[in-house]
Amino acid sequence: MNSTIERARAHLPANFGELSSVSVGGEDVYVFRGLRCQCGNVPGVIGATSSEGDVPFLDPINFTCAKCGVSTVIFDSHRDGYDARLNGSGSYAQGTNPQPTSCEECGNEAAILLCGLSYNIDFEAEGDRDLLAHAEDYFDGIDIIARCNSCDAERHIGAWETA
Ligand SMILES: [Zn+2]
Ligand SMILES: [Zn+2]
Repeated sequence: MNSTIERARAHLPANFGELSSVSVGGEDVYVFRGLRCQCGNVPGVIGATSSEGDVPFLDPINFTCAKCGVSTVIFDSHRDGYDARLNGSGSYAQGTNPQPTSCEECGNEAAILLCGLSYNIDFEAEGDRDLLAHAEDYFDGIDIIARCNSCDAERHIGAWETA
């Protein structure tokens, strides 16, 4: 494991705001996290803009706690990840009308938020040691998954390449 991955496993990226991890796993260059609200509650409603295109949803993606109602923008492709953080760019079309997403099996909105982040760039090997201090923020890909809090069905909210 290189020091980029070590740092990314130990620290939650800034885009998740006041959320915290309830689980951290993953192999190789992948870090897989389960998340919860700052109040300690796990399930929440994931909001996104429906897309007519070849992906189901457009970012920004938000998470609203099912217990305390605090809402967090957990991913914005023009703010988060390697390219957006370091180059101020983001090439994805974005949505302007985020709505609650719901389970395809049972219709329930409350879900457990799961995220897979990838870190293919080894900053130490690349000579970018200064980036190690916040390496967790420079992921090159993110997958967002919702696990229904009622029936456990998982659904893919989306996957974005961010480098
Ligand atoms: Zn809460
Ligand atoms: Zn369900």
